[in-house]
Amino acid sequence: MQFIDLHKQYDRIKEDVQKSMEQVYRHKRFIMGEEVCELESRLQEYTKVKHVITCASGTDALTIPLMAKNLTRKNAVFVPSFTFFASAESITLAGGTPVFVDSEWDTFNMDPVDLEKKILSTQQTTDLEPSGVIAVDLFGLPADHKEICKVADKYNLFVLEDAAQGFGGNIEGKKAASFGNIAATSFFPAKPLGCYGDGGAIFTDDDQLADLIRSIHIHGQGVDKYDNVRIGLNSRLDTMQAVILLAKLKIFDEELERRNEVADLYSQQLEDLLEIPIVPNGYHSSWAQYTVKAENQDQRDTIVKALKSQDIPVMIYYSVPAHKSTAYSKKIKVENDNLRICERLSSTVFSLPMHPYLEKHEITKICDAVKKSIKA
Ligand SMILES: *Cc1c(COP(=O)(O)O)cnc(C)c1O
Repeated sequence: MQFIDLHKQYDRIKEDVQKSMEQVYRHKRFIMGEEVCELESRLQEYTKVKHVITCASGTDALTIPLMAKNLTRKNAVFVPSFTFFASAESITLAGGTPVFVDSEWDTFNMDPVDLEKKILSTQQTTDLEPSGVIAVDLFGLPADHKEICKVADKYNLFVLEDAAQGFGGNIEGKKAASFGNIAATSFFPAKPLGCYGDGGAIFTDDDQLADLIRSIHIHGQGVDKYDNVRIGLNSRLDTMQAVILLAKLKIFDEELERRNEVADLYSQQLEDLLEIPIVPNGYHSSWAQYTVKAENQDQRDTIVKALKSQDIPVMIYYSVPAHKSTAYSKKIKVENDNLRICERLSSTVFSLPMHPYLEKHEITKICDAVKKSIKA
């Protein structure tokens, strides 16, 4: 059994991929080939966002818009600590200072009430200036963008949606990667929409910001390609990855449906045993992960050990929240007060295998193993 099975998916897209790859081998525009433009158009249609700019990774997709904001150490950017490290790392890379915000127990996402608290305490107790928010769609569930944007507007902060895991999810039909002022996603192979290497994309309706981002992702190029007008990066999605993504995008909505079925099957069998993930009314998750909570760390570790001994892959996302990482706790000074929910989550959560090709009997086997390990 695989945590994320990419074999069965490849069997479905194989013919399409091989045919399109032949074309790439023939035209040999390996960087910025027409497939990249086509993918950007497809992503634009999918999300209804005006500008889509592909780049080399999800981390770059977060860092580039932050570079466009010209951050300095004085600029505080608020980010949940209970997330993948890159959500916070991008702020430091772009020159700003991350300030960590607590999460909601039920949704795993940034708590908008704590966001406001952290903005106020930053204003009152530090020399930092609140500047932006990174709202992460953790495990595939869109963040509470309505409330987060309300708080951000009140304090005049920009919002960058980290849709690396959320791509494919929506709130009342409005797609992930269309919230906030700018959004970023990742095409890392294990994400809901993954390629066969690293890749990412940036989304914004803001024309000026889009121009800046286009410049930054190619060495800060200006109108004259060889007169660089700012410092940028070499961050492009390559043509072969675009081919993979175009093929996968065709079956993506079907796969999302299957992910939802898998999640439902898990929830039916586990709801009496553990805290199952909650999807609020009107929200649709892309189920990047199916994450449950044990009663405490001991129980979590017992279950994880039991499953692993039966060759059932289990992961703990995230046992070390960003503020407890060696980088942020020992080396880089950041504001990281009072993250109680985040710390409780990191000691009780674990994630079960999740992909569209997981079969009913496999789900039952996993749930039975969880059941047995709890009763033992
Ligand atoms: C994976 C991920 C990223 C980084 O994406 P890469 O493509 O691996 O650079 C950023 N944020 C979150 C929440 C992620 O899960």
